Amino acid sequence: MTNSTQVKQHGLLVAGHWEKTSETMMVLNKYTQEPAAEISVATKKHVDKAVKSAKAALKQNFSPYERYEVLMKAAQLLLERREEFARILAIEVGKSIRESRGEVDRSAQTLQISAEEAKRIHGEGVPVESAQGSENRMAFTIRVPVGVIAAITPFNAPINLVCHKIGPALASGNSVVLKPAEVTPICAIKLASLLEEAGLPKGRLQVLTGDGAKIGEWLLENQDVNMFTFTGSPRVGELIRSKAGLRKVSLELGNNSATIVHKDSDLERAATLVSQKSFNNAGQVCISVQRIYVHQDIYESFVAKLIEKTEEFVVGNPMDEKTDIGPMIRLTEAERVEAWVKEAVEQGARIEVGGKRDGAFYLPTILTNVKDDMKVCRQEVFGPIVSIATYEEIDEVIAKVNDSDYGLQAGLFTNDLQLAMKAAREIEVGGLIVNDASAYRVDHMPYGGVKKSGNGKEGPKYAMEEMTEERIIVLNL
Ligand code: NAD
Repeated sequence: MTNSTQVKQHGLLVAGHWEKTSETMMVLNKYTQEPAAEISVATKKHVDKAVKSAKAALKQNFSPYERYEVLMKAAQLLLERREEFARILAIEVGKSIRESRGEVDRSAQTLQISAEEAKRIHGEGVPVESAQGSENRMAFTIRVPVGVIAAITPFNAPINLVCHKIGPALASGNSVVLKPAEVTPICAIKLASLLEEAGLPKGRLQVLTGDGAKIGEWLLENQDVNMFTFTGSPRVGELIRSKAGLRKVSLELGNNSATIVHKDSDLERAATLVSQKSFNNAGQVCISVQRIYVHQDIYESFVAKLIEKTEEFVVGNPMDEKTDIGPMIRLTEAERVEAWVKEAVEQGARIEVGGKRDGAFYLPTILTNVKDDMKVCRQEVFGPIVSIATYEEIDEVIAKVNDSDYGLQAGLFTNDLQLAMKAAREIEVGGLIVNDASAYRVDHMPYGGVKKSGNGKEGPKYAMEEMTEERIIVLNL
């Protein structure tokens, strides 16, 4: 990629060939706002051809061991080109180069974990012979691929979240039609080339770029797509669910993550971890800390420490090694965040630090004196803003955390085991992280939310359960 106006045009990967189209879209460098690449725009014809090819590829033998080998090789190639991929991420997302390297490393791991899981797909014995009249029968289950999986991914982690779809889908014997986010498709395109280089059979992976709403609609209309796996906004997730009919749908959607800091916490540790997990990728992380509830006894000292740590973040050019936080994905997103903060302030919130916008940059911001029904608390901010409120009783704070449309992950700092287990049982989320903030994820853990945060689980082992059907085989002996 280059910053001049002469940028590389990328094609679609359809039926085993890269195809450039006459209609194209520009991908911008999110820091300079200059064109960084040009992508092809898929039409309905491309979508149908891609699905047909993906379906046909299912007929070719692709054994679990071959899948293992291809995914391991792809992980190795990715690590060899770590710096190249990290630079693309920094350019197309605006994520700091250090954070981008971390995403590339995690992506390689996601591929490796998927590869390993390819060798572990198994069913179970079912004791049908214990039923009266079935004494001469035996049964067991096998897991078979669902078939053609449409994978639709968001902008914020555009290589690891693609690996979380492609890795388990290919590992479990499916074909994939990938539709990456239009603002950040380059890493996904490059990753597809790398999978080809690693020996992926033609047709197993198709990549369609262009208008998300149109491609989404055409994929939904095509009844040869057997499953949709989507990560993105609740609005699009609900639309996919409503149009998918009886087909499988797995949805990883939004959140307004809460983290509780109880009075017995190690304050220094809590403030450090909360600050690190609130502003990564300019807060554009689905489990980024958004609502912080601090016990009233430690409120003032915690806020002071968090302000101090937040002031240390370096905001600037994502390519600069010193930068912690880059720009938001779009100017309009930074303007939206600015408007939400302004509205909160008009309703009584106080800006402790930050609260300023410069183009697509929004400074890491801490709000206090917030009320539960302010947009910055109630909706998903998806920007570098946290709000802090106090509580007195644990039941009161659990009710506050649960008073949300979302339920992806939450954090709780405490050394009280009874309290931690009470919260584990009562907080309505897909994951509770004890003695850390909400934004903890390693790639083999089960990951996914409840309520408007979606349904279905990621983490290769868990995703592969969703991407396969359990079939029972009964032997009449
Ligand atoms: P988005 O919903 O705008 O876009 C996601 C993808 O959907 C893109 O590829 C887009 O082109 C496509 N799309 C758009 N309209 C479509 C339609 N009508 N039909 C089918 N596909 C369509 O989301 P975004 O702005 O890219 O990402 C931000 C959102 O993603 C946030 O809400 C965030 O919380 C969520 N997210 C969730 C997780 C998770 O694991 N739960 C992880 C990352 C991001």
